[in-house]
Amino acid sequence: MTTLRSSSRDLWRAVLGELELQLPRPAFETWLKKTEGVSHDEHQFVVAVPTAFAVTWLERRMYQAIHKAVAKVAQRPLDVQFRVDIGPSSESGPGDSPDVSPGLEPGPSKSPELAQRQGLTRTPFNSRYTFNTFVVGECNRLAYSAAQAVAEAPGEAYNPLFLYSGVGLGKTHLLHAIGHICASRGQSVLYVTSEQFTNHFVSAIRNRTTEDFRSHYRGVQVLLMDDVQFLSGKEQTHEGFFHTFNDLHTSGRQVVITSDRPPSALALLQDRMRSRFEWGLIADIEPPGLETRMAILASKAAQLKISIDDGIIELIAKRVQKNVRDLEGSLNRIAAYLQLMNVDITYESTSRILDSVVSDSARHNIEPENIIEKVAGYYQFDTDALVGRRRTKKISMARQVAMYLLIYELEMSPTQVGRLLGGRDHATVIHGAGKINGEISEDRQLRQDVLAIKEAIFS
Ligand code: ADP
Ligand code: MG
Repeated sequence: MTTLRSSSRDLWRAVLGELELQLPRPAFETWLKKTEGVSHDEHQFVVAVPTAFAVTWLERRMYQAIHKAVAKVAQRPLDVQFRVDIGPSSESGPGDSPDVSPGLEPGPSKSPELAQRQGLTRTPFNSRYTFNTFVVGECNRLAYSAAQAVAEAPGEAYNPLFLYSGVGLGKTHLLHAIGHICASRGQSVLYVTSEQFTNHFVSAIRNRTTEDFRSHYRGVQVLLMDDVQFLSGKEQTHEGFFHTFNDLHTSGRQVVITSDRPPSALALLQDRMRSRFEWGLIADIEPPGLETRMAILASKAAQLKISIDDGIIELIAKRVQKNVRDLEGSLNRIAAYLQLMNVDITYESTSRILDSVVSDSARHNIEPENIIEKVAGYYQFDTDALVGRRRTKKISMARQVAMYLLIYELEMSPTQVGRLLGGRDHATVIHGAGKINGEISEDRQLRQDVLAIKEAIFS
């Protein structure tokens, strides 16, 4: 990776400018203001962040928005890596400054940790997502073993490997874990989300660089494709993926694909593609049972170097059931509380913190369609009008309110929102949502409207 300090810094400033328009002010001030662009190359962008906690927060809660803003400013999709960098801009490059706080660094032994740390500067993989930090239970044993087998002998064990599960159950974690191992062996590994793939492919067609595109993908030994369900509905992109997949597969390269549903339920995929996925191994990950949830919490608490007694771990594991991401979220909040208040964690305080986490995740059960319906209902339009082409002042405004709510309440990416709202592009969505976000503090009527709609949605 080349370290282009000044230009990375400027680029990141432009990204921050972009984000400042989109995000609620307190969120921007708290999490982004003190960040700095460190380096970038054609695949990734490294950003220095003051605390490990902020790293986690940015990765969890804001990655989509940041990724989009970077793609817009850099005019290509880049993976964004956050790392802890304390102190006023040290002159050191990414290799020798402290990249992760000890509190969040996984792995008990020293040497893999070191290897991983060095790996972080070369590879786009999250240093916390390794096989070591993955807790195995009945729910994920098959997926875990298959991922390990693939990492040990890419192209030989199961090809393709297809992992599917609901959100927050470890698919991306396992992809990164495979990536670490293969990259540390010097193999070329490419991790892409299907949105990145789509963008990359579409711009290759637009710029007539499809040959470069093909040779870029053909050159990799291991392709890790995350969230294939978001592969754009355009037939051309599917063709592109089909050919890429075939090129790699027939030459014995490893392909690993994740999805939120099994191949048989991927409506958008053509049959020939679906049957090819079935050549390899299909493994699903189930939500973890109570014991596994407790084991995961204990392991995460150890990584965070906080001591929580077993009774409280059990309390959390019983209350938070849906997925591992929510489990981690609860633990992070409790850790933050501990740090801020400098108090012992009690049953009562844990319970209170959990209440807010649980209501947070209840929000995430809200379907995007429900938001669109409520907005349309409030402004007395059909939902068709909202996703349609008409652009009277009132409809445009209602549409922008929908964009705003989908992004800020459901944390959907602008690309997803655009697709949902009748195939609008992500720049339109960023603009629309940003506009509402900007006006809401000045415009009393708008504020009341949005509040009323929110009440209808969340009650
Ligand atoms: P998905 O891609 O399936 O939505 P992720 O891989 O992003 O889920 O997982 C969400 C979070 O939960 C990540 O921080 C990941 O490290 C953690 N996680 C998921 N499963 C496990 C597990 N079995 N052991 C440890 N951490 C896990
Ligand atoms: Mg994922």
